[in-house]
Amino acid sequence: MAASSSRVILFVEDEEAISAPFSKVLAREGFEPVVARTSADALELMGRIDPDLVLLDLTLPDGDGRDVCRELRRTSDVPIVMLTARGSEMDRVVGLEMGADDYVVKPFSGAEVVSRIRAVLRRSGRDARGVVAMRIGDIEIDPGARKASIGGEALSLTRKEFDLLAELARNAGQVVSREDLMSRVWDVNWFGSTKTLDVHIGGLRRKLGDDPAAPEYIETVRGVGFRLDVPGESPA
Ligand code: CA
Repeated sequence: MAASSSRVILFVEDEEAISAPFSKVLAREGFEPVVARTSADALELMGRIDPDLVLLDLTLPDGDGRDVCRELRRTSDVPIVMLTARGSEMDRVVGLEMGADDYVVKPFSGAEVVSRIRAVLRRSGRDARGVVAMRIGDIEIDPGARKASIGGEALSLTRKEFDLLAELARNAGQVVSREDLMSRVWDVNWFGSTKTLDVHIGGLRRKLGDDPAAPEYIETVRGVGFRLDVPGESPA
């Protein structure tokens, strides 16, 4: 048996015809699923079990999964994968803006859900070990510990802000396109609005003390994307 403890997944789904078979799949893949059947149960369990990831159905008997998502995001950075029967782009955008990391459209296979879960966990750094720390000017990023600091002062970043900063840092000095940021940080093939990206870039800039009108760190490359510049690093 593996010595490491398995990852706990809070599985919010009212239909037993879905939760029962998929719980078995998750358990077989080494996860520890805990099922909640209502929004109220989900929020109550969240406080007790501290899951590694939340698998969240959109339609629940006592409410909308997107409200649960928003509520979870007020207090937690836990990765959230939404289960949705609604596949229109509008619903996807709304789900991601509520703070979900990814979504799977019903009907889905066990393999599909497991691969999404693993991808989101990997991206969130909850699967990252032995990843080399990066230093860009006075910014330090430790992807394994998911910690970042500027001038020795710890930065309190949301998970998405951290992922964005890490992705920009890996490409420091180069432009990273909006589409690449969306697909690498959110893992979606993006063909719609990138408003979500702007919101998170805005948050990151604020925390870096970057003036949006004349940013020192994150430069907007109009019509393309963003570039993390390194103040003071260019030769004098
Ligand atoms: Ca449902």
